Amino acid sequence: MRKPFIAANWKMHKNVAESVDFVNQIKGQLPDPAKVEVGIAPQAFALYSMAQAAGKSGLKIIAQNAAAEYNGPFTGELSLRGLRDLGTDYVMLGHIERRRLFGEDNETVNRKVNAALQMGITPIICTDETMVQKEVNGEIHYVFQQLMSVLRGVSLDQIRNVVISYEPSWAVGAGQHANVALAEEGCRTIRRTIADNYTYEIADKIRILYGGSVNPDNIKELMAKSDIDGVLIGRASLDVDNFLKMVNYME
Ligand code: PEP
Repeated sequence: MRKPFIAANWKMHKNVAESVDFVNQIKGQLPDPAKVEVGIAPQAFALYSMAQAAGKSGLKIIAQNAAAEYNGPFTGELSLRGLRDLGTDYVMLGHIERRRLFGEDNETVNRKVNAALQMGITPIICTDETMVQKEVNGEIHYVFQQLMSVLRGVSLDQIRNVVISYEPSWAVGAGQHANVALAEEGCRTIRRTIADNYTYEIADKIRILYGGSVNPDNIKELMAKSDIDGVLIGRASLDVDNFLKMVNYME
C-alpha cells in the first residue's frame, strides 16, 4: 500500500515569518500522518524555522534544490550536508523551472540524485518530459528517456527510497486545469519504466506524484487514480484555506 503524499512547492514565495505563520495555522488541521504524508518546500532560508515550527506534527520539510557537491568552492549553492543537519526530509531535484531557467540538464540532475541518496535525503525527482515510443522486449512501450538518464547509477536498493514526480511542462504554472487522463497515463508510464528497468515489486512500491495546476477542485479526481500516489502543488498551495482543503482531500 503506497501512502499518499501531498507536497507543496512554494517556489520563491513567503519569507521566514510568513512561512512559520503558515505552519502554525495548519499544524492542528493536518491529516493523520499514518494515512497521508504532507510536505512543504519553502525557500531555503526558511527551512530551519519551518522544521522547528513543524515540531512533531508530522509535516515533512522539503528543500527545493541542492548541489551535487557536499562542500567546496561553489558560491551560492546549497549543500546536502547542511540540509541533512537541518533535518530536511526530502529534496526536489530537476524541477522544470531549474531546467528551464537555470540550465540544469540530465547529467547535473543525475549527479544530484546520487549525492542526495548517499547523504540519506530522499530525492523527489521531477520529470517533465513527454512520453516517447520505444520497443521493450518486442513490445512497443511509452517511456521517459529523461527519467532513466537521471536515475543512472541508482541501485536496486536505492530506488526504493526515491519519489518521482511527473510534471509535464504544459501543465506547470499554466493556469489550466490538469488533464486527469494524461496525468494518470504519465504516472502509469513512469511505473512501467521502473518495472522494465528495475523490478515489478519496486515499481509497485515506488510513489509517483503528479504536478501541474493541481487545485482544490481537481485534487480528488487526481488522487482517485490508482497510479497517482500524490501531488506536487505550486500556486494553489500558498493559501492556507486551499492548502488545508487539498491535504484533507479524503474528507
Ligand atoms: C510546481 O511548480 O511544481 C507546480 C506544480 O506548479 P503549479 O501547481 O503552480 O502548476
